[in-house]
Amino acid sequence: MTGELAQEAAEILGRLGVASETFQGGGFESRSPITGEPIGRPQFDDAESATTAIADAEGAFHAWRKVPAPSRGAFVRLLAEELRAAKPELARLVTLEAGKISSESLGEVQEMIDICDFAGGLSRQLYGLTIATERAGHRMMETWHPLGVVGIITSFNFPVAVWAWNAALALVCGDGFVWKPSEKTPLTALATQALFRRAAARFGAIPAELCGLVLGGRELGETLVDDARIRLVSATGSTAMGRSVAPRLARRFARAILELGGNNAAIVCPSAGLDLAVRAIAFAAMGTAGQRCTTLRRLLVHEAVYDDALGRLRRAYASVAIGDPRDGATLIGPLIDANAYRVMQEALDEAREAGGVVMGGERLLMDRFPGAYYVRPALVEMPEQVPVVRRETFAPILYLMKHQDFDQALRMHNDVAHGLASSIFTNDVGEAERFLSAEGSDCGVANVNIGPSGAEIGGAFGGEKDSGGGREAGSDCWKTYMRRATNTINYSAELPLAQGVAFDV
Ligand code: NAD
Repeated sequence: MTGELAQEAAEILGRLGVASETFQGGGFESRSPITGEPIGRPQFDDAESATTAIADAEGAFHAWRKVPAPSRGAFVRLLAEELRAAKPELARLVTLEAGKISSESLGEVQEMIDICDFAGGLSRQLYGLTIATERAGHRMMETWHPLGVVGIITSFNFPVAVWAWNAALALVCGDGFVWKPSEKTPLTALATQALFRRAAARFGAIPAELCGLVLGGRELGETLVDDARIRLVSATGSTAMGRSVAPRLARRFARAILELGGNNAAIVCPSAGLDLAVRAIAFAAMGTAGQRCTTLRRLLVHEAVYDDALGRLRRAYASVAIGDPRDGATLIGPLIDANAYRVMQEALDEAREAGGVVMGGERLLMDRFPGAYYVRPALVEMPEQVPVVRRETFAPILYLMKHQDFDQALRMHNDVAHGLASSIFTNDVGEAERFLSAEGSDCGVANVNIGPSGAEIGGAFGGEKDSGGGREAGSDCWKTYMRRATNTINYSAELPLAQGVAFDV
């Protein structure tokens, strides 16, 4: 592999300690969205090696679950140290492989560090309740135990952060795991695995097999989903993936965290501060080239401020810097591949047929990067929420629609299949509170005066309806990675039965 990007990727992987035979000379070609050129040729795993990785992780789990939780936290702190030291290099690899601009790639690695720091503190706070018992001379309590092996399936657009959200919690909770990253981002996964192994070597008392990595496509994901030794599957990706995974897990009573697609909206009210709103909307709708699960896809603007908001957005869309994500001035990098571009164009054609007025959406930089797909983000005025507006197109398309009053805006907001992230721009406290109330946004993330994207790790992240279910990252998400036992202890000489049942023999 001779190209400039392949060379740089190989050098970074080498410095991070990844053996060259794992990313060169294999049967699968990994391409950079920056130019479309190949940057690695990793070997993909088959079902047999996935089964071996699961068995190894299970064996390692049996030892790890006996390590005290604060010691497990000490290991996760070492992992954070390795990530801190490697932050610029791992971020650069994210840029090369996923096409993110530098600040977003650095932000992605920062999220990995943040969740490790969070998990380190959490390792001393895996609290169970002591519960009032109805029986004299008894004590009742909850104990949280490690769960087992966790299957982690991730998408291309957050190639390393989502692993960390799951891995850091699983590790302090005493679990092992096997990770199947997106087939589009195997190199960043190999780099992350190497950093885990570095931390493990420093810690000493942790078997490297605790953290398995298998590279491959959908079939390999299915192997994890169907293996009875995997007690929890945390799968991030499209709603179609979740629809296939959920019933398979349910059949064997496994736990699921499903982080799926979104069709996220924002409501702009008459009292909104438009300067702030337009800046927030621009990042939420165009950032990451529209390839975030939380990307803003529908904008519901009150008719009184519609023309003003549209004018400001047009200017922002016309002036945004699109190009090579390695260039510090670039704000919008490429789409992941040709298929993403095709799907975007199909959606725009459908929107035009349904009466939409499309600004942008065209392919750019074809002379410089004939094998890559750079687009101007599209701003589309729609008369109503027709089918194309109601589904997720994983590309930078923002549909604008007018509303006349708050109730109508709220109805339109919730009237889609997804329920991931949402926001409202208003300075009316009544509107803000109604949006956050039980009758308001039906999403797992609901924000006021910030966009729907860019979640912090301290909160629980996840969605409702077609966006899946379950939560990952902060708050009390750790509970999904552990099993709860209710213990009742009788320290008296009597045997009172619950509910006052009499059973004297
Ligand atoms: P994708 O569904 O094509 O693939 C995601 C992962 O699932 C990959 O590792 C893939 O190999 C695997 N996979 C696909 N089908 C599978 C199956 N039937 N069984 C087991 N594994 C399977 O998604 P993508 O294109 O990589 O990512 C984009 C999608 O992910 C968008 O819909 C986006 O909204 C969503 N996403 C959601 C979140 C979230 O937290 N809610 C975060 C990032 C991305």
